[in-house]
Amino acid sequence: MKLIYLDNNATTKVDENVVNSMLPYFSEKFGNPSSIYDLAHISHDAIQEARETIKDFMGAEVPNEIIFTSCGTESANMAIRGALAINKDKKHIVTTSVEHHCVLNLYKELEENGYEATYVGVNERGEINLDELKAAIRQDTALVSIMHANNETGAIFPIAKIAEIVKEINPETLVFSDCVQAAGKIKMNLKETKVDFASISGHKFHAPKGIGALYIKRRVKIPPFIIGGHQERMLRAGTENVPYIVAMAQAAKNCMENFDEKIAKITHLRDKLEHGILDNVYNAILNSNAKDRVPNTVNIGFQYVEGELILLYLNELGICASSGSACTTGDLEASHVLRAQNTPFTALHGSIRFSLSQYTTEEEIDFVVENLPKVINKIIEISPFQKELKELQNKKNN
Ligand code: PLP
Repeated sequence: MKLIYLDNNATTKVDENVVNSMLPYFSEKFGNPSSIYDLAHISHDAIQEARETIKDFMGAEVPNEIIFTSCGTESANMAIRGALAINKDKKHIVTTSVEHHCVLNLYKELEENGYEATYVGVNERGEINLDELKAAIRQDTALVSIMHANNETGAIFPIAKIAEIVKEINPETLVFSDCVQAAGKIKMNLKETKVDFASISGHKFHAPKGIGALYIKRRVKIPPFIIGGHQERMLRAGTENVPYIVAMAQAAKNCMENFDEKIAKITHLRDKLEHGILDNVYNAILNSNAKDRVPNTVNIGFQYVEGELILLYLNELGICASSGSACTTGDLEASHVLRAQNTPFTALHGSIRFSLSQYTTEEEIDFVVENLPKVINKIIEISPFQKELKELQNKKNN
């Protein structure tokens, strides 16, 4: 059975040339970048070259604005804690209700430790309410954390405009943007924005898991996040993961190559999948309606059916996708993102995210469009909501 991988917002396959780029740094080029002999210089230079590449990838101004970390979660923690250390006397923090848990759970912890948090909402298309954001900024707002692209719906938030708005109201408020789902899907140009911190994660754009980066704007000075040696400008001590840093830079280079062409192909296939499902499955509704959306993501709600069951049936066909539900204490909790955008309750537990990559093929999409309606029909047959489903079907036919 052929694997059809449509879960690229969860993680991606590592590019072949990315694997090849890092291999020498495990074997013949294994030196510690901090040592003084030639072998060490090779590692040191490789890191600096990688920093230059990630600078270009994120649209930073100078390489020193890039700090290598272990993942997107660590980058978010470093940015948020760093910003709060700068604005020590300000105890108000702002974010959206649809952020990744690496931000939301940290905010929860901060609230337990004396911070007051405001969560800005989204409309039914998943777009941020900028008036609500404006109203949220105060003189004691230390930090605004707003993601660039949502992992579940793909909705893009205008971070340049958001940073502009924030700084106009309070120039001291720092702005962090979780760009993990934007990297490789949208061109980033952070130097043209007032965003102070931005995070990326290698495994979302065909580098290995366990490597990320944090952009810290020049002139923004945070205290060390990990204390120890002098590595990463003393902000994140610990011997650098040279092979993975090299790998992430190679993956970034790959992303930048023929970017527009690759994005056009992914968009075409995503739209084909989206229309193919919506046209052929009567209980399907589109959850990812934002006017601005990353090209690889579509989130579809199948009303009156269970998302986990859909995933199990799809798995039997070799298709990997994901639902936004989280398993907490044995219960399936509907996605906080879909709840925030008021997705109809009939679709909350039957929502599936399909996320494509440059490796997705037309044949794969055709296979899913052909087989997914059969899967849904099979589940509908055993649904206890026959009356409601009949009504939906009649509505669709009229
Ligand atoms: N932020 C977003 C929007 C994500 O989608 C993810 C991963 O799913 C992360 C942060 C966390 O990244 P990492 O897995 O590298 O910690």
